[in-house]
Amino acid sequence: MISALLSPYSRPTAPDPRRVALWAAAQGWHVHPLASGTKIPVRGCDRCSPGSKDRPNPQYVEHDGHDCACIAAGRPCHGVLAATTDPERIAAWWDRIPTAGVGVAAGPSGLVILDVDCHGGQPPEDFAELLPGVELPDDIAPGSIADGRGTLALLAEARRAPLPGCRPETLTVRTPSGGVHYWFRVPAGTTWRPLAGALGWQLDVRAGSSYAVAPGTTTRSGTYTALGECRTVAELPVWLARDLDRTGHRVRPERPRVALPWRTRSIGTGYVAAVVRRELSAVAEAQSGTRNGTLNRAAFNLGTLLAAGSLDRTGVADALLDAARHAGLPDREAAAAIRSGLSAGERQPRALGGAA
Ligand SMILES: [Zn+2]
Ligand SMILES: [Zn+2]
Repeated sequence: MISALLSPYSRPTAPDPRRVALWAAAQGWHVHPLASGTKIPVRGCDRCSPGSKDRPNPQYVEHDGHDCACIAAGRPCHGVLAATTDPERIAAWWDRIPTAGVGVAAGPSGLVILDVDCHGGQPPEDFAELLPGVELPDDIAPGSIADGRGTLALLAEARRAPLPGCRPETLTVRTPSGGVHYWFRVPAGTTWRPLAGALGWQLDVRAGSSYAVAPGTTTRSGTYTALGECRTVAELPVWLARDLDRTGHRVRPERPRVALPWRTRSIGTGYVAAVVRRELSAVAEAQSGTRNGTLNRAAFNLGTLLAAGSLDRTGVADALLDAARHAGLPDREAAAAIRSGLSAGERQPRALGGAA
């Protein structure tokens, strides 16, 4: 059977790390070697390895790994930055260290991996902190949430969605500590970042510059084992992508600062211009969780200034939308908040008394 030849997981024993690495690279994933028996990248050359806090490496020369010559030369320095799909380079690495584990660099591989931990420990006393920003039922039984699996089940329930990995099926890996990794392909054209704990209690995300241990890798704590039959990776479900976006995991391209319309008008440095600038930067810099409230307030405050006639309503609405995008708010939601905020403000015009 061809699939048995291609997949290193068809064997009952722990697969050969070199085959795991080559199989992962054949999926288009960028791999890098992990120190034997561990889940941390192999030590790079002397010049590139800072050493540990307790044992700093005196030969280390501080430099940015992104443009380190070692990587171009094929040395596995700087962990994920060295990750590659090149079979020759991979074969050479695992020829040198046949027992090295396999790391998969999330960002370059186009992956987002949902990391569901099972640390045990006490869930937050206030259940609202389990999944910040998610409306939860108020009848959660104390003791029903033991670890990340419980948090995830709550999230799926709140979104009326199937548990990740069930529908659609996707590569699901059990970690030696009993946690579960759900592997997903990022939607085309999107970029994501890791943010520890931002989604929920004992839920982490591997994305961007972080990596996951490939199934089949054995550490001293045990083997990362692919569950079920599925060895392919499904696209990140839309509902989960929304929650990851909401919690700040989505990287949006920096929008170039637009020339604000009133800077070219006669407002100059007066009171109105100062208020406008303050409100816009508050919106643009708002953190998730406070973004909607900040936008509503800003639209209202600017709305109170419209009646005085020195601001153009469309210009203000456009600039607010731009600031909202900068903060990562979805356009439709932001546009609606801006419309209603401006209108509410207009109904309570502020007397400027010639300050503008
Ligand atoms: Zn090096
Ligand atoms: Zn280096």
